[in-house]
Amino acid sequence: MNSKIWLSSPHMSGNELKYVNEAFDTNWVAPLGPNVNQFEKELASYVGSGHCAALSSGTSAIHLALIMLGVGVGDEVICQSFTFSATANPIVYQGATPIFIDSESSTWNMDPELLEFAIKDRIVKGKKPKAILLVHLYGMPALMNEISAISNKYEIPIIEDAAEALGSTYNGKYCGSFGLMGVLSFNGNKIITTSGGGALLSQDSELIKRARFLSTQARDSAPHYQHSNIGYNYRMSNVVAGIGRGQLEVIEDRVEKRRAINQFYRSFLGKKEGILFHTEQEGMCSNYWLTSVLIDPSKTKGISRDSVRLSLEAENIESRPLWKPMHLQPVFSGAPAYSNGFSEHAFNIGLCLPSGSNLSEEEKCRIKEKLLTIFV
Ligand SMILES: *Cc1c(COP(=O)(O)O)cnc(C)c1O
Repeated sequence: MNSKIWLSSPHMSGNELKYVNEAFDTNWVAPLGPNVNQFEKELASYVGSGHCAALSSGTSAIHLALIMLGVGVGDEVICQSFTFSATANPIVYQGATPIFIDSESSTWNMDPELLEFAIKDRIVKGKKPKAILLVHLYGMPALMNEISAISNKYEIPIIEDAAEALGSTYNGKYCGSFGLMGVLSFNGNKIITTSGGGALLSQDSELIKRARFLSTQARDSAPHYQHSNIGYNYRMSNVVAGIGRGQLEVIEDRVEKRRAINQFYRSFLGKKEGILFHTEQEGMCSNYWLTSVLIDPSKTKGISRDSVRLSLEAENIESRPLWKPMHLQPVFSGAPAYSNGFSEHAFNIGLCLPSGSNLSEEEKCRIKEKLLTIFV
């Protein structure tokens, strides 16, 4: 059996251990220390977000963002439906209700028209949503001009889930720097990883200061343990931040490599009837975290997403259906949803292809050969 080709696996630079060893040598083996401080500075500077709090996960960053916006029991939060469950779960942690919005077909992200329709409808029904939680899916920037205009018009702040989009830009601005707050993830399958970790970004230094406070058990300044707020244990470890520093040094290379893999797939599938690539619109630069395609069996002589996935699996090559939209998930069946059918359609026929920046030439040959036996 050939060795397994993963969808997206960790790709170390070699410098991570230098910073991890520094943590050990100086005994900063704790959820604070020089690596955490430096990683925060470097992230804020790279994304252009001003300020950054390094946290234990992207999920905890979303949770803190909602807490700081005062989201609580009975509140409503607008949330992109076409995403991973980690985007929506923290809304429920707060006892609030997600209001799911479908995607438009160009970026596969939040549909601005549906968004405005939903906001008006929620207001008529008696509640103004507390936040707009949008996603840059698979690294593709959302339609930020339109969505920001709606956010301003109705005075509802944006939380940007850029967990999949570190290094992506729109009109020269980095994903994660558009909203009032931005969220990054460094989970093992993301474009850079710390094994597990995340970050909250904002131009507002007070919000980031507050996130650091809440993420370290909300300790008041007193010689004893004094608390006036409910705290969380959400801070990033200084060991983990060392991995992050080594990874961030090579982010440009990783974006370039993922974009090259996207080009690789386009070079032999781009002109095949019935295969539609997830594609940048004007002004966008996607990190192409995962190369994703829609496979329309009515135009591919019956070849379906599932037949492609199973054929690849038989060769020990991992591929995966697109995220199942949140408004179709059993756990969110009670939540209001504003749907246009796009994400359901994309979920039914879409596939993510192996996209790791560490794919070897030999592995790419295996993938290409297999795909060309399917799409002759
Ligand atoms: C990975 C991911 C998250 C969660 O990040 P964690 O660090 O795993 O908690 C959130 N949203 C999206 C879109 C993601 O892909």
